Amino acid sequence: MIPLTETELRKAFVNVTKGEVGRLHLPVDLASQPWDDLDFLGWCDPKAPQRAYLATLHDDRLLAVALRLSQEARGPRRTMCSLCLTVGDVALMVATRAGRAGQTGNSVGTYICADLACSLYVRGKRRIATPITYETLSTEQRIARLVANLETFVGRVLRPA
Ligand SMILES: [Zn+2]
Repeated sequence: MIPLTETELRKAFVNVTKGEVGRLHLPVDLASQPWDDLDFLGWCDPKAPQRAYLATLHDDRLLAVALRLSQEARGPRRTMCSLCLTVGDVALMVATRAGRAGQTGNSVGTYICADLACSLYVRGKRRIATPITYETLSTEQRIARLVANLETFVGRVLRPA
């Protein structure tokens, strides 16, 4: 990804109100993110542990999605991330759908690595302590799979119900 600014990020949110966008917390270390290795920027709200966000290019447009950690899932658990297919600390994250669908309470849930570092896992730049699955795909193939899964998820958030 190319490095993003705070203003760009706040403007990119698709599923929160303007008021909420103003109140949510961006990463404190925005300038020092490993941009070259990111397919999306994902972060947990530094002040609200039940909230997380991700920002990515979708059809050449920067889009940011607000997520909340599902109440049912008590903390991260060891399961498979739907985006990068890493088995590790994964949380069920729920996104309110964009537009009218979201206003009527429609949401989309998916399992995502609790640290939202999928881009680093597929590149082998971050590893989980005790891997239980071994990938035979190349790094390029894993990146392509992550990007495709991410597009599907963001597409579901955007799609009118
Ligand atoms: Zn992941």
